[in-house]
Amino acid sequence: MNFGWDLTDDYGHTTALHEIGHTLGLPHEHQNPFAGIVWDEQKVYDYFGGDPNNWSRDQTCQNVLRKIDAGEVEGSNWNPDSIMEYWFPAGLIVQPAKYHDGLNPAGGLSETDKQWVKRFYPALPAPFPTLEPFQTRTLSLKSGEQADFKLEPSASRTYQIGTFGTADAILVLFEEVNGEQRYVAGDDDSGQDRNTNISAKLFQGRHYVIRVRLTWAGGSGQTAIMYW
Ligand SMILES: [Zn+2]
Repeated sequence: MNFGWDLTDDYGHTTALHEIGHTLGLPHEHQNPFAGIVWDEQKVYDYFGGDPNNWSRDQTCQNVLRKIDAGEVEGSNWNPDSIMEYWFPAGLIVQPAKYHDGLNPAGGLSETDKQWVKRFYPALPAPFPTLEPFQTRTLSLKSGEQADFKLEPSASRTYQIGTFGTADAILVLFEEVNGEQRYVAGDDDSGQDRNTNISAKLFQGRHYVIRVRLTWAGGSGQTAIMYW
């Protein structure tokens, strides 16, 4: 995204949010197929064809007049205060008659904008809890279920990470690098009379995830995990 002018005032702020809206996949609100706007088309072509836009008829059609196919979009009915709505001077909108004298969106994000963007881009799940060294966490997992913990070691050294109990488990250690989990080490005690154990050098300041998944829940239904 490349802006060719100052964005530090309210108008600039609103412009940036509008363009970010396009990046997130939001089309123009005045092209909402549910808006039912009737345009004075010639006035619209004249207005956007003049300074400062100097748009061709095709550009004006693409950005203003063309109604989006109802099958192409999901969203609210017309929200004239949407960040994706344009400001229009008097005379361009014939219907609804209340916008005959012009349409002046409030600027910034409307409540409806926020609601729909949250629906399209829901919040990420809660971050994994952090496991501290020598702290035992009891897990009540069924076969096939898993639990994840963050490890944020405060010293760089070799650590042991292990599960306890009669359950069979797969234990996998990842390092988080640029938001991606990279495999470091793993162990699987399925069908064996022992518990999983990983011995790995962990580095202070790096971020790790330890994942335990039960292949068999065992008699007690409880498993514990610890690193030390
Ligand atoms: Zn736009």
